[in-house]
Amino acid sequence: MSGTRVGLGWDVHRLARGRPLVLVGVRLDADLGPVAHSDGDVLAHAVIDALLGAAGLDDIGTLFPDDDPRWRGAAGIDLLVRAVSRLAEAGWRPLQVDAVVIADRPKLAPHRAAIRGALALALGLSVDAVNVKGKRTEGLGGLADGAGIGCREIAQIEPLPAAEA
Ligand code: MG
Repeated sequence: MSGTRVGLGWDVHRLARGRPLVLVGVRLDADLGPVAHSDGDVLAHAVIDALLGAAGLDDIGTLFPDDDPRWRGAAGIDLLVRAVSRLAEAGWRPLQVDAVVIADRPKLAPHRAAIRGALALALGLSVDAVNVKGKRTEGLGGLADGAGIGCREIAQIEPLPAAEA
């Protein structure tokens, strides 16, 4: 294997009142949270799909099917750590990620540093290789007015050095 590869991830969940909103394990101060069998962590889920996509390893639903009791209700951050291990088994490691979290509420900015730090730690990257941006919908589309939260994510991976593969 040589050279870097790129993968794309996307996830979306409906939001409802009184549910916790968690992004890569960071609990946000919010009155709305995702409706999901799992923790509905759109950022973790999108990063997993981008990493798996880059490595040619199917997708999150194939690796962690939600009808398997082992993964039902699993925290997104735990699945992300497992996905990074799966990547290493295949001879790859994360190199850089960039994500856009799309939601009208809550504001991402106060939580951004914590989210970047948690994501960098899970990926074994420095914080400057991990970017997360918040974007509002301007009242347009199915995610508008707190109806949902989405995430688009792009990840770059590189071959593990021979000594670690
Ligand atoms: Mg999801």
